[in-house]
Amino acid sequence: MNIQVFTFNALQENTYLLWDETKACIIIDAGCYDKEEQMELTSFIESNQLKPKLLLNTHSHIDHVLGNYFLKSKYNIPLKIYKGDESTLMAVKTYAPMYGMPLYQEQLPDGYIAAGESICEGNIVLEILFVPGHAPGHIAFYHKASNSCIVGDVLFAGSVGRADLPGGNMGQLITSIKEVLYPLGDDTIIFPGHGPKTIIGREKNFNPFLRD
Ligand SMILES: [Zn+2]
Repeated sequence: MNIQVFTFNALQENTYLLWDETKACIIIDAGCYDKEEQMELTSFIESNQLKPKLLLNTHSHIDHVLGNYFLKSKYNIPLKIYKGDESTLMAVKTYAPMYGMPLYQEQLPDGYIAAGESICEGNIVLEILFVPGHAPGHIAFYHKASNSCIVGDVLFAGSVGRADLPGGNMGQLITSIKEVLYPLGDDTIIFPGHGPKTIIGREKNFNPFLRD
């Protein structure tokens, strides 16, 4: 599996493109906001002859959903989210202007994905892990073949997601990290929603939020 990260919008959010040798492509947490960011993403897709098939979200905070409307319209592909995070998505339009993002256009999901389920597109298989605490319906996408996990705003290099937004809970967040992510193994590569990638073992040993 190939993976490319783009850092988009004022909140410096990581958008991930995944594709395989068939060129089937999945877009996770589309955060592109303005024309320039939309162009950066679509030019990459076109120059690599990728075939977008699916839009996914780890969770639906504004910085992770800004590009969904544009990409769904452009490529006519479905958006799938975890049902438990729908209220997070519905709330975005109420606070987008306050965040200085008046261009936000709401894109409702076309379908839902459940924890424990696997998503297959081309030869890419992603397992869905339920990791609440930062957002109530937060999920992570685990790609077993490359031992990598796209975790949204659950775990960062040297930090963890904030828990003071609606539906957030710090105890639950730490439990999600220790009980759902740690068992993936110390060598598992973590692709977070903000900042650089890391591995589980490094966070287990050095992340100040995960000390017992
Ligand atoms: Zn978030």
